[in-house]
Amino acid sequence: MIKLDRGECPKELTPEVCKELTKLFSENRDRDVWNSPKIKRPLKDALLEMSHGKCVYCECMLNEEAKDVTIDHFLPKSTAPDKVVEWENLVPACLRCNREKRDYEGKIVNPCKDRPKDYIALDSKNRYFLKGIDKTGIGEKTIRAVKLNDILRVMVPRMREWEEIHQRLAEISQDLEEEGYRPKYKNRLEVLMGKCIPDCSYAAVKASNMLDNDCYKHIKKYLMSEGKWTNKLKELEEEMRRIALQLV
Ligand SMILES: [Zn+2]
Repeated sequence: MIKLDRGECPKELTPEVCKELTKLFSENRDRDVWNSPKIKRPLKDALLEMSHGKCVYCECMLNEEAKDVTIDHFLPKSTAPDKVVEWENLVPACLRCNREKRDYEGKIVNPCKDRPKDYIALDSKNRYFLKGIDKTGIGEKTIRAVKLNDILRVMVPRMREWEEIHQRLAEISQDLEEEGYRPKYKNRLEVLMGKCIPDCSYAAVKASNMLDNDCYKHIKKYLMSEGKWTNKLKELEEEMRRIALQLV
């Protein structure tokens, strides 16, 4: 989970439309008014832009096969029917996370308001297992409510993506040792870092692992000693630091 900036409310979701759809929902709670043709497309587009095209909870890429894009009501529509089409209450989620969370009423991390890294950390031994770290237990509740440690559906995909990067890092590190500096090694690192920034799937876990990885540290040190730690690489590292979770 990473911090997101909620953009502008789509212009189609005017106060009048909002009022009309909220009224329709109050009359019949089975109506999925948030999918009304009046707002459906612009609303989904705006939400996906906000989340970099990902589920706000598990960070899987949406719009991929078999991962339906759904609109999740952060405060459940069962308990907050007046917020059923309120821009501030809508987030894009994959079908799995939306179903797991369902009508959960406890306080959980709101990635549009809270910084997830203040509540959720990464297990330093397992590397893919999330842990709640705040005293109030909000991080732990979030992980449980959305099952963010679901082994098959969430942990394995994020492990697969990081392990792929991990292997490539080891290769670059070895190539640098054997052949010395070549621009292509810097470029290969840049590509890998570009896979651990906010617009990529499972970015929080990948960025945390990358920044703590020995091969990454070795390559960085090598490039710095050669004067090749470019502004682009610095920027990418900054982006990773912003979303990286603590290792605990
Ligand atoms: Zn999800």
